[in-house]
Order: sequence, then structure tokens, then C-alpha cells
Amino acid sequence: MKALMYRGPWEMPVEEMEDPTPSAGKVVVEVEAVGICGSDVHGFTGNSGRRTPGIVMGHEFAGTIGEVGPEVEGYGAGDGVVVMPLYSVAASADPYPINLSPHRRLTGMNEHGAYAQRVAVRAAQLFRKPERMSWERAALCEPMAVTLHAARITPIDPMQKVAVVGAGPIGLLTMLAARLKGAGTVIAVDRSVHRLELAEELGADAVINVDDGDAAATIREMTGGGVDAAFEAVGISSTAQLSVEATRNGGNITWIGNNAPMIEVDMQSIVTREMSVRGSYGFDETDFAAAIEALSSGRLNVDPLVEKTSPLDDGPELFRSLAAGETDLVKIILKP
Ligand SMILES: [Zn+2]
Repeated sequence: MKALMYRGPWEMPVEEMEDPTPSAGKVVVEVEAVGICGSDVHGFTGNSGRRTPGIVMGHEFAGTIGEVGPEVEGYGAGDGVVVMPLYSVAASADPYPINLSPHRRLTGMNEHGAYAQRVAVRAAQLFRKPERMSWERAALCEPMAVTLHAARITPIDPMQKVAVVGAGPIGLLTMLAARLKGAGTVIAVDRSVHRLELAEELGADAVINVDDGDAAATIREMTGGGVDAAFEAVGISSTAQLSVEATRNGGNITWIGNNAPMIEVDMQSIVTREMSVRGSYGFDETDFAAAIEALSSGRLNVDPLVEKTSPLDDGPELFRSLAAGETDLVKIILKP
């Protein structure tokens, strides 16, 4: 089969590799659609250090079961599935949910992923793909689960005001997740005109370009003192600080962005205004099932997010241009 093999920084050719075979408890999935994730692009350049040479990346995927290994029940060849890439290697009962478990692993990081024609995964990672859901939408379930998890752990009352800092795929899906949680006014912040246009298309009530002046001041003015809840989906000092400054006294701030390990924020502002700041990481099985339900029910208009669909062979060039910053496409989906 063909796969994108990560060989080292800026090097990920299409290579011919042996087909995976399903061991006990596993199935082989023929990949129909796999999303290119920003974390893979950061891994591709070698900057994040979170991808090791010799690995096939790709963790946002869905496909058709090709082969079923021993001891797998309830699934058969031909079934359409969405794969939850997080899995646990815990030897016994784990006190933590999967996203917080020290035993968590990720398909596409700790083992070969879905930038390939076929991939072997555990039956425990499988969710049935509803017939009515397109393959492209199925590939969006993983990032959608990330944002539903963030919304789930963030207190938002009906019609409260929410800001989302960063309008990449995660920021844009977070807007929709916040709506499902009951948000009223939703404000998107970014510095890309293109991404802010997409935010409007996806239903943002207001969009703010950080290059147009003091975004936090604008948000405080628009909302009479700040939003009730802010989500940060970038992961650097300036945007983390913006999420704090844009939120009202006593408000809630959830950081999803995972980029700079250390950042600088105004701690005094957090203390004296009694802000609640929390991190959000990944998702659990409940979030993943909710993402499938949200994206297959027609409740959310996510299709504008997918700006390009390409064959696996285009992968090397797409990664190069994404990493070089030559393209601003929000979500690219490969169809191996
Ligand atoms: Zn991802």
C-alpha cells in the first residue's frame, strides 16, 4: 500500500509499504478520508518534537473495515467506521479518563496512522459511521470532539457571550461547540482575513482582526465589560493574554491551544478579577460519540471548513506548502 512516511524534518515522501494485518482485537481500516491536522504540520517541520521519524502520521480519519482480526465482535468487513485515535495501554483499570491518562497513546503518533491506504486499529477505537454522514464530515469528528470537550468543561449559561481567540479549524469548531452549549453572542478573533470570513460564514456574530487595534478593548466595549467565557485556540502568550483581557470579572477562560510550553500572562489580573482559567486536552468516548451525533445530524454547518480534498499523492507538497505558510486553507482532507 501507499503511505506518507515521515523521514525527518521537511521530509515525508509517499512510500510503498507492507499492508498491515489485524492482530487479536484489531481491524484493518481502508482509509476513506483523513484530515491534515496542525499538530502534524508542526511535527513535519520537527519544531514540536512530537513526531518521530519512521512514523506514518494521521489521526483524524474514517474508513471502511477491510479485514477483521481474531477476538473482534460486532464489526465486519465493509462496515463504515470513524476511528477514535486515542487509545489506552493501561494494564488494569485506569482512574483517569482517556485524555488525562498517563497510559494514553495516539494512532498517528505512537503507532502508524492514516496518511496511508490502510491502518490497523483496536476494535475499542471504532465508532459506527452513520450512513448519512459524508466521509469528509467523518474526518472532522476528531477535531469536533476536541472542541465539544472544551465546551463541556466550560461553564456557559444560555445566551451568554463567548469569544474564541484563533479561527483555525479548532477555533472555528469551538464556536459551533459553544453554540451547542447555549452561547448567545459569539465573537471570533484572528489575524487572517480569510479565516475571519469563514468564521462569519459559520455563524460568528462578530469577527475581530487583531491587526485592527486593541482586540480585547473592542470586545470589552462590545459586551459591556467582557465576555462570560473565552476559548483560546492558538497557544502563545499574546493570545492567552488576550483571552484573559477579553473576559469579564469572574469569567471563565479555557485554553485549548497547545504550542508554546511557557507563556507570559497577567497573573494579577487573573487573581484580582477572580478568573477561572482551565486547560482542555483531547476528548473522551462521550465527546467523540457526541461529535459524530453533532456532525451527522445536520445540526451544524461545517462543510465550508473543508477547503480542499486531495489524493494521498499530493500529501508531500501540501505539507510543504502548509509548513512554509504558503497556504491559508483551513482544513485539507486527503482521500487515500
Ligand atoms: Zn488533530
